[in-house]
Amino acid sequence: MISIKSEREIELLRKAGKIVYQTHQYLKPYIREGITTKQLDRLAEDFIRSLGATPSFKGYNGFPGSICTSINEEVVHGIPSNRKLKNGDIISIDIGACYKGYHGDSAWTYPVGEIDEEKKYLMKHTEEALYRGLKEIKPGNRIGDIGHAVEKYAHEKKLGVVLELCGHGVGLQLHEAPDVPNYGVEKTGPKLKEGMVIAVEPMLNIGSPDIYMLENDWTIVTEDHRPSAHFEHTVVVTKDGCQILTGE
Ligand code: MG
Ligand code: MG
Repeated sequence: MISIKSEREIELLRKAGKIVYQTHQYLKPYIREGITTKQLDRLAEDFIRSLGATPSFKGYNGFPGSICTSINEEVVHGIPSNRKLKNGDIISIDIGACYKGYHGDSAWTYPVGEIDEEKKYLMKHTEEALYRGLKEIKPGNRIGDIGHAVEKYAHEKKLGVVLELCGHGVGLQLHEAPDVPNYGVEKTGPKLKEGMVIAVEPMLNIGSPDIYMLENDWTIVTEDHRPSAHFEHTVVVTKDGCQILTGE
């Protein structure tokens, strides 16, 4: 069942989303050559807790980190470790925060120092694909409209769309109904209604869309080991569109 959130719930989701956004902004200056992903994890966790929230991912199905840190060919669910960031890497940081029981979820891909043109292209167009998807959100449109817009844009830019992972509803649970795939057919799927809260999160690859899971049973990497990017916002469906909860 897809829940419609009350005004009060939306306020709490807004607060959780804001904390996620603030955590991204807080981490940004630390994303530099030499820092380990474990250090970033620690900084994020302390910051989230200082704002009266808890990191949604910590312990989620046993996930060991507070955030996900996925470097280069890692698509999602990178586990924070002693690996140091290097100049020319890109890192996708996925952050979830839980405030008074309600979650916010947002991922962003960042450059480390100077990155090559291919990675710049991938990041630019994956971010744009997210906004193409968000543009489709309004009451009466359907989930398939979102995925269709993301997929169409990605294909125009010759990027691989990861099909196995998708966006989702957000609320008292980090992952709720409905699934929000990054592909789809227009005018199909569940109808969007005012008060629904969903996360849209394209994961696009420079090369093949194919992926596999590392032996740590978490981290998803591209089959061809070429780079992948991930941009995600949690949004609430409004009267005539949507409002981003994990932004400014
Ligand atoms: Mg996320
Ligand atoms: Mg998500």
